[in-house]
Amino acid sequence: MSAPPPVPLAAPTRLWPDEAAAVRQAVAAVIDSERWILGPAVAGFEAAFADYVGAADCVGVASGTDALILALTCFDLPAATGVLVPANDGGFAAMAALRAGLTPIAMDVEHRSLLPGIENAEAAWRSSTHEVRAMVVTHPHGDAAPIFALDAWRRERGLVLIEDCAQAHGLRVGAQHVGTIGDAGTFSFYPTKNLGAVGDGGAVVFGQASQAAERARVLRQYGWEPAYRIAYAGGLNSRLDELQAAVLSARLRFLDARNQRRRQIADHLRTAAQSAGLSAHGEPLTTVAHHLVVRTPQRDALAGHLADAGIQTAIHYPTVLSQMPGLGAMAETPVARTLSQEVLSLPCFPELNDGEVERVGASLAAWSQEDPS
Ligand SMILES: *Cc1c(COP(=O)(O)O)cnc(C)c1O
Repeated sequence: MSAPPPVPLAAPTRLWPDEAAAVRQAVAAVIDSERWILGPAVAGFEAAFADYVGAADCVGVASGTDALILALTCFDLPAATGVLVPANDGGFAAMAALRAGLTPIAMDVEHRSLLPGIENAEAAWRSSTHEVRAMVVTHPHGDAAPIFALDAWRRERGLVLIEDCAQAHGLRVGAQHVGTIGDAGTFSFYPTKNLGAVGDGGAVVFGQASQAAERARVLRQYGWEPAYRIAYAGGLNSRLDELQAAVLSARLRFLDARNQRRRQIADHLRTAAQSAGLSAHGEPLTTVAHHLVVRTPQRDALAGHLADAGIQTAIHYPTVLSQMPGLGAMAETPVARTLSQEVLSLPCFPELNDGEVERVGASLAAWSQEDPS
């Protein structure tokens, strides 16, 4: 008997038939419309996504990275001032801060939650040699950061707050969607995200209408206002494509159902992981389960055990900011660094079939933390 096919960590092209049909139809309609740049599909998606998350405004852009860069540019922060960023977010926020002419400052995280809390923010803020004017809070793996506490903390210090929601489409904290609590929220529509395009895409949302929102809309197209007149420095060509916007509007209708399926898979895997003595992340009722993250000091052995069963895993993320040479000198963040050696992401996407989910669960449950030698 041959081994069963591997269970992939992600399979963004594996759409359910009703959703695939909606995507094909959306693409064909844009081609036929002969409006390919900043037309009705982008305006329609911006309105639909703003409505979905409860934001006053949404600006479609070319990627989640550009969303972060534009969000960090549109508040007109003084050059080279500090931006607090999580040490374990994969470097997205620090890269964007540098691109926006600002100085990233690493926040360590709490051991229990994998996230920066107020004490981490306070420590980074106090030890910074730069004047700190902004903070990026990431909602990783589909789970919420302690955003209301951090929001209160930063208000006392007058910092701009950007929420990186690239792994958290549809996530709510109480009644409010993430991305609408800070001054701006950024989303990526990379194909593997909870809401994915058939290529790259991104958006910046603003809970309140503001001058910054208007500026972001101008900056995404060269900084022109009106056409052929640069009104603000820091402009880019970062338009969301009509094609991608039409795909995203078609897929947005499926998002809540897909997140529900992710939660169901995460529940199954969390229970299996816990039965094997592993700690597993995600708040069962609210998570949008972008990844199901488990944690063990024997992480590499666990990854090997799962690979032997044909189950793909990944590490989000294997390095912290102080280990990234391209960022220059960054503060050491010992807790985040230890955790980067313990976390493992398991397959958790809505198109997994029940047999695949059961295979992952059974392999997890069969894991023994005892020294295998
Ligand atoms: C994917 C991701 C990004 C970058 O988005 P792109 O669309 O790939 O540029 C930024 N932040 C986080 C947390 C992400 O997961």
